[in-house]
Amino acid sequence: MKALVLEAYNHFVYRDVETPVPGPGEVRVKVMACSVCGSDVKGMDGSTGRRQPPIIMGHEASGVIESVGQNVTGFQPGDRVTFDSTIYCNECEMCRKGMVNLCDHREVIGVSCDDYRHHGAMAEFVVVPEYVLYRLPDSVTFQQASMVEPMSVAYHGVTRCEVPVGGTAMVVGVGTIGLFAVQILKSLGVSKVIAVDISDRRLDMAKKNGADAGIDSRDPQAEAQILALTDGKGVDAAYDATGIESTFLLCLHTTRLNGSVVLIGNIARNMSFPLQHVVTHQLSLFGSCASAGEYDRCLELIAAGKVNVDAMISGSFPLSEGDKWMHKVYNREDGLDKILLIP
Ligand SMILES: [Zn+2]
Ligand SMILES: [Zn+2]
Repeated sequence: MKALVLEAYNHFVYRDVETPVPGPGEVRVKVMACSVCGSDVKGMDGSTGRRQPPIIMGHEASGVIESVGQNVTGFQPGDRVTFDSTIYCNECEMCRKGMVNLCDHREVIGVSCDDYRHHGAMAEFVVVPEYVLYRLPDSVTFQQASMVEPMSVAYHGVTRCEVPVGGTAMVVGVGTIGLFAVQILKSLGVSKVIAVDISDRRLDMAKKNGADAGIDSRDPQAEAQILALTDGKGVDAAYDATGIESTFLLCLHTTRLNGSVVLIGNIARNMSFPLQHVVTHQLSLFGSCASAGEYDRCLELIAAGKVNVDAMISGSFPLSEGDKWMHKVYNREDGLDKILLIP
């Protein structure tokens, strides 16, 4: 089969590789669309250590089952599917509690690090275990379905805390995950959602897709503007989809008494922590890691037209031209954000 292989850092080659064979409990999916994750783009230069060559990247994808291994009972060739990016063991304590995102033996498809190498979906075919598959509703396109993985990360983050119906929420950083979070919050009945970013383009996008207000966090008045939008009280829940000290502090300072702050982005490894503010405002802080099976709920939202996925795709390009397009996204050329590669 053809695949886009990261042969050396910053160097992809589109070439023939051996077609993977599904083992017991596994299926082979003919990939119809693979969306490029920020972690793929960051990983291609070696800085993260999680895309060690040679590796076929790609963990956000959709396709049609082409063949099944032994003991596969729930799916058959021809089924339209997407899949969880995480391979988990189904046996450890966290897996048994349904928190598969915290599995002791978690491996991510399309990642190679010191511990494992798991080839992904930037290829004609990818092999995955049956238990990570999700069937697509007829009305959901393959392109939309390839975006369900990042959407599930946003869904998991949004539902880490409860926002009262009719309440207010803020999302800081409206890239792919943050923009999904805005849309999911609205679909769940949150009455006012404030988007915060440093990019006018992204703020416009957020406002076109459900945000009630867009605040430029470079503005020294940003904090005051957010408080003004919430009668001076602050939001019920703030979501930090960026994860640097300034965005974290902005979330803390614009969340109401007894409110919640959910931490999804994690660019900074460490930061200072305003302990007294958190204690005296009785804030609840939640970490949110990946997702834990929220795919069906995301697919339902897309099928019901409650989340606009198409607006978030900058373009679809042939996988054979992957080297060129990966570099364009890496260099932030042409306003490209979220792209899909089509085998
Ligand atoms: Zn991803
Ligand atoms: Zn496990």
